[in-house]
Amino acid sequence: SEWSGDAIRRRFLDFYAARGHKILPSSSLVPDDPTVFLTIAGMLQFKPIFLGKEPRRVPCATTSQKCIRTNDIENVGRTSRHQTFFEMLGNFSFGDYFKKDAIKWAWELTTKEYEQFLYSACIMISMMAKESTLLHWVLMGSYSPLNLLGPLNLLNFFLVYLTPGTYNNGSLHCSLPDITCGWYGLPPERLWISVFEDDDEAFSIWLNEVGVPKERIKRMGEDDNFWTSGATGPCGPCSEMYYDFHPERGSLNADLNDDSRFIEFYNLVFMQYNKNDDGSLEPLKQKNIDTGMGLERMARILQNVPNNYETDLIFPIMEKAASMALVSYGKADDAMRTNLKVIGDHMRAVVYLISDGVIPSNIGRGYVVRRLIRRVVRTGRLIGMRGDGHENSEGAFLPSLAETVISLSSEIDPDVESRRKSILGELLREELRFVQTLGRGEKLLDELLDEALGSAGGDKPCLSGKDVFLLYDTYGFPIEITAEIASERGVTIDMKGFDIEMENQRKQSQAAHNVIKLSVGNETEIVKSIPDTEFLGYESLFATAVVKA
Ligand code: ATP
Ligand code: MG
Ligand code: MG
Ligand code: MG
Repeated sequence: SEWSGDAIRRRFLDFYAARGHKILPSSSLVPDDPTVFLTIAGMLQFKPIFLGKEPRRVPCATTSQKCIRTNDIENVGRTSRHQTFFEMLGNFSFGDYFKKDAIKWAWELTTKEYEQFLYSACIMISMMAKESTLLHWVLMGSYSPLNLLGPLNLLNFFLVYLTPGTYNNGSLHCSLPDITCGWYGLPPERLWISVFEDDDEAFSIWLNEVGVPKERIKRMGEDDNFWTSGATGPCGPCSEMYYDFHPERGSLNADLNDDSRFIEFYNLVFMQYNKNDDGSLEPLKQKNIDTGMGLERMARILQNVPNNYETDLIFPIMEKAASMALVSYGKADDAMRTNLKVIGDHMRAVVYLISDGVIPSNIGRGYVVRRLIRRVVRTGRLIGMRGDGHENSEGAFLPSLAETVISLSSEIDPDVESRRKSILGELLREELRFVQTLGRGEKLLDELLDEALGSAGGDKPCLSGKDVFLLYDTYGFPIEITAEIASERGVTIDMKGFDIEMENQRKQSQAAHNVIKLSVGNETEIVKSIPDTEFLGYESLFATAVVKA
């Protein structure tokens, strides 16, 4: 497909820039806001404006925001659509336009295929003029059905396309849009819509003004279609766009949450209320728009691949990992593919987190990085990855993988490249430290196996669930590796006993789990829990920080 991830991102920003939005850079994964743990959505950097605590500097803006959602960690590689690290494309109105424009533009961007190239020229000129100047509006106006200023457009075209290079908007570098393709051009009959159950206005805009047949507009409840930024704060009903991979299944009994058929890719939030402590909704002074489109999801659709991971945004990292494990993704079974997806996702997450200043540690954000790194190392060892002789890497494989992540970073975050050295250094240090831990585990396992063999008597020697759990929990020792080494010495492992230990642990950390679950719904809770969080051992593949009593 002609749609690279970079082109999809650029086209989104161009589209909204042409409609008066200011292109702003992504904010850090570590939010300015002390009440927020990690950046989970594009709206975070604008929260004070939505709340009316800060004046708006522009009426509307558009960004491609780096996001981390650790609440999706268990979904990585298991669903086709979730990563921990992803980019959220967004358009935002701060009391400027509302529902109708948001909906119409979202539809236009996703379904319209070709745009007159002269129009792109207009966009470019207004970009070069940096802001929404008078020139911008004159040029936009010239793209009227009558095109009264046609000759002027032609002039723009020559001006723009004869100017080589890139334009520079803040810290964001974009190249000139190519004139051979326009917006995303998805077939309208493949698109389904969800609206909040009570939102007749949104329903009617989709139905009457956009022309979506009513059987493809679903009313959904609060869980899916009422967006809140926390227990209190700005919120409102939302409307989502879904892509249908199997239109042949018809519209009878279609369920938008069935991810073998549909993928949600664009969420439009009509942010018009403030939720008070008592749960009551109070209208905000101004009505805002907050949207999010998953870049990797749109890439997955436009590149026509089976999941987000096989897009050009992530796949090169998986291929690198596969080559270092001497396997091929194409020939691999599902388990191997899942492992490669985990590596591809987590490597992106850790590189961007470290680049934004989060250093592996046992608490808070540092713990998130640490557990992601450890999961990559364990997964990598499991599939037989070896270092490929990266300078001074002492057999470690993270630095090489990170090089691939960095090579893909220029349009996601232009600062990553310049932090290359410290990113590689942190990763190397952390990998070697963890490998040492694993080494200690191997020694312990040997001793435990000796014991098991010695005490077996006439029975078949078996490693107790407690021991397997100890290795797993405290030494970060994958069960598969324990089982393999044990079987080499003729010892089985007690999986039932292990499951019981796991279950106990799970119950104990349930409270912690509840507060640390990172979702849009409970930012404040999360942050409250951070200072109390300490790493007390590597709990599980999907480890949750254990809160010290
Ligand atoms: P889902 O229901 O698929 O988990 P969501 O409703 O939690 O998605 P939103 O909070 O509405 O997602 O975020 C806006 C958009 O960001 C989504 O429509 C999707 O395109 C994208 N997105 C959300 N979570 C992820 C993720 N874990 N990985 C990739 N993209 C994501
Ligand atoms: Mg989700
Ligand atoms: Mg959803
Ligand atoms: Mg959503």
